[in-house]
Amino acid sequence: MGLPEGFRTTEEVSSDWRTPAEIDNYRTTPDYPTTVGYLERIASAHPDKVRIENFGKTGEGRDLKIVVVANDGLFDPEAIHASGRAILLVQNSIHAGEMDGKDACLALLRDIVLNRGRAQLLENVVWVFIPVYNIDGHERRSAYSRINQNGPVLSGWRANATNLNLNRDYLKADAPETRAFLQMFHRWMPDFFVDNHVTDGADFQYDVTFALDDTPDVFPATAKWIRDSVNLELERRVNATGHLAFPGPVFLNDDTDPARGLAFHDNPPRFSTGLMILENRPGLLVELHMLKDYRTRVTGDYEIMRALMELMNEDPAALIALNREADRAAAALGSEPARRRSVPLCLEKSGETTLVAFRGCEFTRGPSAISGTTAIHYGSKPWNVTLPMDVGAKVAISVTPPAGYIVPPQWTDVIDVLEVHGVTVQRTTAPWTGKVERYRLSGMRWPGKPFEGRFPILRGGNVERAIGEFGKCTMGPETVSFPAGSAVISLNQRLSKVALHWLEPEAPDSALRWGFFHPIFEQKEGGEAYVLEKLAREDLVKDPSLRVGFEERIRTDSKFAGDSNARLEFFYDRSPWWQAQRVGEYPVGRLISLDDLPLS
Ligand SMILES: [Zn+2]
Repeated sequence: MGLPEGFRTTEEVSSDWRTPAEIDNYRTTPDYPTTVGYLERIASAHPDKVRIENFGKTGEGRDLKIVVVANDGLFDPEAIHASGRAILLVQNSIHAGEMDGKDACLALLRDIVLNRGRAQLLENVVWVFIPVYNIDGHERRSAYSRINQNGPVLSGWRANATNLNLNRDYLKADAPETRAFLQMFHRWMPDFFVDNHVTDGADFQYDVTFALDDTPDVFPATAKWIRDSVNLELERRVNATGHLAFPGPVFLNDDTDPARGLAFHDNPPRFSTGLMILENRPGLLVELHMLKDYRTRVTGDYEIMRALMELMNEDPAALIALNREADRAAAALGSEPARRRSVPLCLEKSGETTLVAFRGCEFTRGPSAISGTTAIHYGSKPWNVTLPMDVGAKVAISVTPPAGYIVPPQWTDVIDVLEVHGVTVQRTTAPWTGKVERYRLSGMRWPGKPFEGRFPILRGGNVERAIGEFGKCTMGPETVSFPAGSAVISLNQRLSKVALHWLEPEAPDSALRWGFFHPIFEQKEGGEAYVLEKLAREDLVKDPSLRVGFEERIRTDSKFAGDSNARLEFFYDRSPWWQAQRVGEYPVGRLISLDDLPLS
């Protein structure tokens, strides 16, 4: 009697190193326990090269893991840095419906460990990867997670267990995953970071698109290296494998008309790669194309990671030196001459475009009875054209850095986020009164529904937009008293830009914008009508110009004239009683110097 069809002997199974996705012909992707099972099998077969470590827990209590891959079994980050090797950190499945990177990493790990042809990728590089970052989302498996995406059959959910999008959480650090990430990141201090995603948006021929910031907020020498070498080399080396890469994120100026060209998008530090700008490290965003089949996407991701390892391996010293220089520049932000230059907080498109060869898909456009507007229908034939693409970015919002900041101790959540980011925070040992620069804020508006669990102050009527109308934000010198225990943050530190983006109110992901200072906008005392009536009568006698202003307002503003409360508040708002409310007084001081502060 023969063996049943499909039966495999123990020897056959134990010598089979195909990944779970490969075994299933890329129809499925493994769940987290199966993924970890495969990784543990490799690690226990090659403990001299592979180590798995936990770095925290998700909201639902799952272990967050990294896999460390080093040719000679050197697994200690400090020893690795001392050895002159570069560390590459790859993150997968932050959007857990986009799990391509996980399956690509399993295959690449297997090929590095078992196949000599790939082992040389790690001669001068140590590879650390997070197999699945948003594990709770990853285990919320469904056939209905990703309506835009072409397989696999079940995939995870975009958000974490509290429905936060982790790729909007990097600076505000609300999620346990973000907090664990930051601690792990600083333990390893990688030289290069990769975040693997799958696109939403347009149809086109490329299966691998990628973006590396080279904008004015990036350390100039790093930006030049990215522009002159990395982008071109990644594109060339991926294309040489039969995949088709595009070195830029594909955002259309008009979602219904690709002919109108490719748009610029800012990358604020709510995003992983936006945070990398503040960490002074290159961050590569990989976006596999959602409509390509799963095999194509996973193997495309494999090839761009392989190409990046090759590049890093060829000259690790150059990359390490760039990072060291970027750190040094950031650590001087609070000193002359850096303080005389303004630092970008937010970018917008420069208005300059260049023509690029683009391999799109043919399409038709027309009126739609469904949407009632213009609809696009993509066909299957290539559309090889030259399109205008936004190039360059100009600074939309910038600020000259202070020597440091002082935050009163009662703003514990604001200070906590800085500490979670590894920013050095000192404390005053006694009350201190001195001259600082301080902001006065008014005219802010809030959304009617939450965004990422908060009510961020609107920008141009939008929660996601980083530029546009924001209210009034004026800064001036004031003499202010700060209690003992106030937090002092020098800008002469490697993470100066994290502090700047968190504490400058106008920054796109500032504590103010995300709602950490919302109470400062609340009025806490008010006058009874008969009390205000008396105040108004007295003030009108004392100040004739007030009478002129009041009567003028009644004449010209009929809504005001008909609103009894507004008429009474006219007097309250101009009185010392209103001043005492301190509404809109931003409590953080910009320090001119740290010299006179009582610090331990
Ligand atoms: Zn994504």
